[in-house]
Amino acid sequence: MARYFAGLDVGGTTVKSVLVDEKGEVAGSMVEVRSHVKEGYEATFAQLESALDQLLAPLGASRSEVRGIGLDVPAPSSHGVIWGQANLAKNWVGCNIRDRFSERIGVPVHMTNDGNAAAVGEYSLRHKGVGGLLFVAPGTGLGGGFVLPGGGLYEGANGLALEVGHISVPFLEEDGELPTCACGWKGCVEAWVSLVALRRRLRVELAKSKWEDHELARSESPVEEKAFRLREFAEKGDALATEIFQRQGHILGYALADLVRVFDPGLVVIGGGLAETGFRDRYLDWVRGGFQERAWPMYVHSPIDPEKATTRFEWAVGGDSAAALGMAFVARELFG
Ligand SMILES: [Zn+2]
Repeated sequence: MARYFAGLDVGGTTVKSVLVDEKGEVAGSMVEVRSHVKEGYEATFAQLESALDQLLAPLGASRSEVRGIGLDVPAPSSHGVIWGQANLAKNWVGCNIRDRFSERIGVPVHMTNDGNAAAVGEYSLRHKGVGGLLFVAPGTGLGGGFVLPGGGLYEGANGLALEVGHISVPFLEEDGELPTCACGWKGCVEAWVSLVALRRRLRVELAKSKWEDHELARSESPVEEKAFRLREFAEKGDALATEIFQRQGHILGYALADLVRVFDPGLVVIGGGLAETGFRDRYLDWVRGGFQERAWPMYVHSPIDPEKATTRFEWAVGGDSAAALGMAFVARELFG
């Protein structure tokens, strides 16, 4: 009888799922189903079971061959309990999702948040010589995770560590105010680098006379759509798009300098949708620029070998399957 370990990555819209065998090799292909998170956790549990069955069927395997599950959720969680709602239905909060799903399916389950899961995934996709790995993903918000040298995930005493989006940065809007964050506070780095921030910034810029002839200023489409198109403009070297992404990258780098001072990770991996764009090399340069402004020289270059970067920056390599893979590897570690 084979022994498999499943990684189930629950997102706001879909569940991405993958199996690894006892050697840690991916078995079969990834399966994606709707997550139905807004309909309550029971609806999502049914989807998770469906994903598992779709993973197992092509292998001719049964659920009894799944020895452990790694589950990640798009919300802060601790010891299997969701602490914050975000874009989930209310009944997720305060509920021990890990234990309920484990009882329902009869398999041990480990649960963490999506940033932690992707951090482990990115670590496991690299050679093992990596020291620490700090992962950040600008998207709807700004998620993050930290993998210790040797591969252990650092989740903190309560599983609440690495909420990196909400460290504060000293940048003001043009009206002299700190931007409001989705968490309710002001001045969080997420309020500068997220997709929501991109829309706000675009609205402000398009109101200026200097862009009145810009294609996006003349377009009637909603700002959500314009913000989505901003990436293709940046790829063409458009001045407005470049200005907006440059500022985002710079502020992300500035915040990363503070995190690097705390964790000294050696490697910073940036995930999220920007990793797939044609201007990602320029974006990474902007991140480095912000980082170098804030970080002391020793975090940039080694005093022993000035050619050697103390802190390296790389794009994520796992794409949108990193979190599911990471959780499958965690399940194999814990339950194998
Ligand atoms: Zn915040």
